[in-house]
Amino acid sequence: MTTQNCYLCDRTASSVPSESWKKFISCETCGEYEITEELQHFTLSLFGEKNKYVLSGLCRELKETEQDVPCLTTQNLNELMSRSPVPDMEDINAKLEKLLAAVKRKSDHFGKIVELQRDGDYPLAYAKNDKEFFAFIDQLVAMKLLELKEEDNRTKFVMLSASCWAHPSNKMDNEESSTEIGFKV
Ligand SMILES: [Zn+2]
Repeated sequence: MTTQNCYLCDRTASSVPSESWKKFISCETCGEYEITEELQHFTLSLFGEKNKYVLSGLCRELKETEQDVPCLTTQNLNELMSRSPVPDMEDINAKLEKLLAAVKRKSDHFGKIVELQRDGDYPLAYAKNDKEFFAFIDQLVAMKLLELKEEDNRTKFVMLSASCWAHPSNKMDNEESSTEIGFKV
């Protein structure tokens, strides 16, 4: 195992050759993925820096929900961008639901404090960057689905609200709450 920069987020990740033509990357931010030699050299930048966060979101969600590790190739990038469980990137409600689902996954009891890191957890919401990520958390707090317990510049500590526990299927797509969501994409 060696250390290198993650191809998706540029943070430090671990890397293991899985076969001669591809390697396995494990990143705390992006989860796990395989990437082909061709794509490594051809570079993901041809595909567009602006789309990497979608792949980070996909790989992180697959890791957290214990699904198969995806293999990123030059051929399948577009397919990966639109495969399940990737939400519609223009749909703020869908991204808020992803974030809420992630907090639920980490909450095994009422009162559980979940730590969300500005730098490392933005893929949980398929957020474009850390600013969008923190805005999503603020929005879920405003909607009374999360309670903010503590925060600093780098971390927000949240817990699922009592109403969230009382209505575990609480979705963002009911009319009352969707009218409250009003920030720009
Ligand atoms: Zn990464």
